[in-house]
Amino acid sequence: MMTFTTFLSACALIILGFVLMECFVYGFHKYIMHGILWKIHQTHHKKGKGWFELNDVFLVFFASLGIGLIFSGLSSLDARLWLGCGVSIYGMTNFFFHDIVIHRRMRWTYSIRNRYVQGLIRAHHAHHKHIDNTEGEEYGLLVFNPKHIPARVSSSQIPE
Ligand SMILES: [Zn+2]
Ligand SMILES: [Zn+2]
Repeated sequence: MMTFTTFLSACALIILGFVLMECFVYGFHKYIMHGILWKIHQTHHKKGKGWFELNDVFLVFFASLGIGLIFSGLSSLDARLWLGCGVSIYGMTNFFFHDIVIHRRMRWTYSIRNRYVQGLIRAHHAHHKHIDNTEGEEYGLLVFNPKHIPARVSSSQIPE
């Protein structure tokens, strides 16, 4: 049986895994994907026609990070399990906003009438304005410069 303290520390580890992933993705995206692995990541910035892009290998990489942690901590129910859950929840959240809401890979047609979400979308579009690999902005996803948050919700999600 799980005691209340182990339950609380499990929750804290899940949140920690989630928060660490946003930080890790920021650094990895800025210094690695826009650095030595730009050849792969540019397939996302210079979008072709197909549904898949070479950049999706990063999805597999991030997903295996979470799954690997979960499996390594599964038998002893230790910290790795809960960190892995946080990492995986982050991965699903990132996929939902980045791939479904922003890039509409699932033929998503709804607009989310929420200022934070609309700010997040605008911030990521600002990141995509830089199609070459010179100085860019907004390498994170969930944490972004609040200047992108519109004064009021607009009916269209796509920034003008
Ligand atoms: Zn990028
Ligand atoms: Zn993108």
